[in-house]
Amino acid sequence: MAFRALHAQWGTVFAHLADLGCGHDWATIWRARPPAPLSCVECGHTMYAKTSHHGLHFFAHAPGAPHCALAEETVHHHLLKLELATAARAAGAHAELEVRGPAGTWRADVLATHPTGDWQIALEAQISPITRQDIITRTQLMNSDSVSAIWFTDRKRPPWLGHVPSARVSLHDEHGLLVTDALAKFTKGSWQSGPQTPAATFLKWIFTGQVVPHHRRAPVTAPLREWHTVWTAPRYVQDEAAHLAEAQRQLHERREAEQQRRDERLRAAQEHDRRRFGTDRSDDHQAAIDALMRRQAALEKPVYDFIRRATGSAPYIDEDPAPEFATGLPVYIGQRPYGVVCPVASRIPAARTDLASLVIFVASRRERDRIAAQTRPDQRIVVLSATRVRLQTDLAQSRNDARVTAAS
Ligand SMILES: [Zn+2]
Repeated sequence: MAFRALHAQWGTVFAHLADLGCGHDWATIWRARPPAPLSCVECGHTMYAKTSHHGLHFFAHAPGAPHCALAEETVHHHLLKLELATAARAAGAHAELEVRGPAGTWRADVLATHPTGDWQIALEAQISPITRQDIITRTQLMNSDSVSAIWFTDRKRPPWLGHVPSARVSLHDEHGLLVTDALAKFTKGSWQSGPQTPAATFLKWIFTGQVVPHHRRAPVTAPLREWHTVWTAPRYVQDEAAHLAEAQRQLHERREAEQQRRDERLRAAQEHDRRRFGTDRSDDHQAAIDALMRRQAALEKPVYDFIRRATGSAPYIDEDPAPEFATGLPVYIGQRPYGVVCPVASRIPAARTDLASLVIFVASRRERDRIAAQTRPDQRIVVLSATRVRLQTDLAQSRNDARVTAAS
C-alpha cells in the first residue's frame, strides 16, 4: 500500500492530503465508476483508492502485482509514516511521503526538508526486520546524496537500534507519537537515559540543532542500553569530552609517578653500587639491575599463587627490594618473613644466616644455580616460571650478550 500514486490525467496524487495535492476530492477516485486511472509510482501496476476501517486513505495494488516494495507495506507501517510526517510538519519542516532519491537508489518514507532548503532528513518507519548491516548501508546511500536519515521503530529491541541515528517510539491515543528511547544525557562520568518526548518536540530539537546524534565514547548507566549513537544536547557532548580528557590526564599522571618511582629505585640501586664498588658501573650493569627488577615484578603473581597453594594463606610481597634480604623482594605471611623473590647472588653472603629459614624464589634454573653457590647447602630454593618472566629476562640477557659481544 502507498500514500502516493500516479493519476493518468492529474499526475501524482496523495491519499493523505484533503485535496489529493491537486485540487480534487477523495470521492472522485474512491469507489469511482469506471475506476480512476491510478498506477503505482514504483512498479507501474494498476492501483485502487481504499479507505481502511480506521478511516485512513491509501492506495493498494490491484491483484497480480509484480514484486514491489510498496505492495508489501502494512497499514501499521503507513500509520507510523503518517505520524512522522505530521510530527515533522509540527516541528517546522516541509514533509513529503515516499520520496525517491535522485538516482533511484533509495526511497524515503518521509522526507523532511528545511523551509529554506538548508537540509533534508529522511524519517524512516522501520517495522519489518532488517539487519544492522543493511540499515547502515541504506543510511550511507542517503548520506551520499546529502540526506541524513533517522530510523524510527516501535519494535522492542531491533538489533540496529542505536547503531544508526534511531529512536524507539510508541503511539498513544492521547499524546500521539511519543519518542521513548533515544535521548541521553551525560552525568557523573556516564551516559544516562534522557526524557521521553512527543515526536514533534524531538524533531524540532533535531531540526534546530538543540539535539544532535552523537557517537558515544564514555560508558552507559542502565537502563540506557549500550548504543553507539545517542541523541543528546551539544553541551553533554562537550561534558563527555572534558571528562575523558581529565581521566586521560590523571592516568598519564599516575603512570608518570609510577615511572618516576621506578627510576628512583634504579638510581638508588646504582648509587649504592657506586659507593660499594667505588666506580661508575657500565651500561651492562644497569641493564642487569633493570632485568632483576623486571624478574622480581614478573614473579610476584606466580609467587603469590604458589604460596596460596602451598600454605593456604595470602602472602604479602613487598614492592621494594631490601638489603637485609640480599636486595630481593621480601615476602611475608602475616608479620612473619616467609621468603624472598630473586635476591642478588653477590649480596647473599652478608645475609646467609637470615635467609636460611626462608624460601628463595627464582625465575630459572640458571638463577637457582647462581644463588645456590652462595647459600647454605640446605637452603630451600623454588624455581617458578612465568612465560612473561622468561621472555623479559631472555630479552634483557640477549641485550647484555649483544653488548658484551660488541665490546669484546
Ligand atoms: Zn507497486
